Amino acid sequence: MNEAANLQNFRDETRGWLAENCPAGAKGPGEIPWGSSKLEIADADTARWLELMAGKGWTVPTWPKEYGGAGLTKQEFMVLQEEIRRIGARAPLTGRGINYIGPTILEFGTPEQKAKWLARLARGEGGWCMGYSEPAAGSDLANVQLRATDQGDVYLLNGMKTWTSDGIYGDWIFCLVRTDREVPKHEGISLILVDMNQPGVRVRPISLISGSSPFCETSFEDATAEKDDVIGAVNSGWSVGKRLLQYERSIHAGVNTSGIQRQEREASLVDVVRQYHGAKQGGRISDASVRERLVRLEMESRSYQLTQRRVMAETQARAPSTATSILKVTGARLTKERTELHQQSFGVQGIGWEGPGFSSRELETTRTWLSSRAVSIYGGTSEIQLNIIAKRVLGLPD
Ligand SMILES: Cc1cc2nc3c(=O)[nH]c(=O)nc-3n(C[C@H](O)[C@H](O)[C@H](O)COP(=O)(O)OP(=O)(O)OC[C@H]3O[C@@H](n4cnc5c(N)ncnc54)[C@H](O)[C@@H]3O)c2cc1C
Repeated sequence: MNEAANLQNFRDETRGWLAENCPAGAKGPGEIPWGSSKLEIADADTARWLELMAGKGWTVPTWPKEYGGAGLTKQEFMVLQEEIRRIGARAPLTGRGINYIGPTILEFGTPEQKAKWLARLARGEGGWCMGYSEPAAGSDLANVQLRATDQGDVYLLNGMKTWTSDGIYGDWIFCLVRTDREVPKHEGISLILVDMNQPGVRVRPISLISGSSPFCETSFEDATAEKDDVIGAVNSGWSVGKRLLQYERSIHAGVNTSGIQRQEREASLVDVVRQYHGAKQGGRISDASVRERLVRLEMESRSYQLTQRRVMAETQARAPSTATSILKVTGARLTKERTELHQQSFGVQGIGWEGPGFSSRELETTRTWLSSRAVSIYGGTSEIQLNIIAKRVLGLPD
């Protein structure tokens, strides 16, 4: 059978299996588990969907079968995504486990580390946090100071991480730590996996501008981490950690090929605004300049989606390199423009924080606009992505 026929076969089988097995409650907007043992999956269909998909290896379809995946090719992965989207099902599992540290272990881990971690990640056993940023290490990430002291079989960790998303619900955290203070800063860093359920690790929530906050400061006081859980060689954490960032950015850029991605398609902003203002005489949709901005944004968003698909189809590696930075910068700009335009089109009703004068939809729009400010910061700011593009794509000097 030729490649096209094989792929059609795979599509037919996939469609049949999904029709038979996807529970009704796993379709449409709703919960997507990320593995945390501290958050119970509220809905039985969501839990069943995770179990069934993990059984097929379809929480991480492109991972090898021996590590909990299904060994799908990129083309098969894209067919599976399309078929899942076609029936409006949610991703069965998400999070930093299958999307950030999983592919990093797949690329850099020893056979023992792969055997220890990957299958449980694929089943969603354990919620993962990211321990990169520190009070004095954000864009200048190589400045991390969290100290790891060699104690034989373990490292003793002392120091602080900040902006730890989901920290209060985390079971594990992958951390960039300083294992050598005597060498240039990029050369004394290691990436290590740390159990968050130990007395030496403490998390403290930090409030966000949008009001919601599973966002934390994480302190380490004589916490321990197994030496066997250093991913990549000791002191090679700068290269391993940068690769993990590419996996993270491939999620933000919508070109991840590890886990199945969030499937809900955003409604057209033109439709959203028209629907809201249609009933009102003289609503802002009648304003020509707003209409022009809406249409321009819609066209750019569609081109962006087509570019995402092209990048996914063309790239050979699991995480595309510089294309990820380009897409992340553009995607962040479009998301911010979209939420800003949405909020502005509501006029003064779009700036309510709480109170009876505002509908729940208006309040949600304000909060979405505020939380969207973060998209050009997390995973490396847009300025840092532009620096990467300038150096690695355009070859410009430092
Ligand atoms: C919602 C959210 C979730 C996050 N989750 C996590 C998480 O789970 N784990 C984690 O480790 N971190 C997390 N972060 C932290 C994030 O990675 C950092 O905020 C980001 O890397 C920027 O670092 P900083 O905040 O220290 O800003 P700074 O590095 O202090 O930057 C301040 C400003 O200066 C600019 N700037 C700095 N250096 C340069 C330069 N060389 N050239 C041009 N401009 C420059 C930046 O672009 C930025 O505008 C999260 C952040 C947010 C907003």
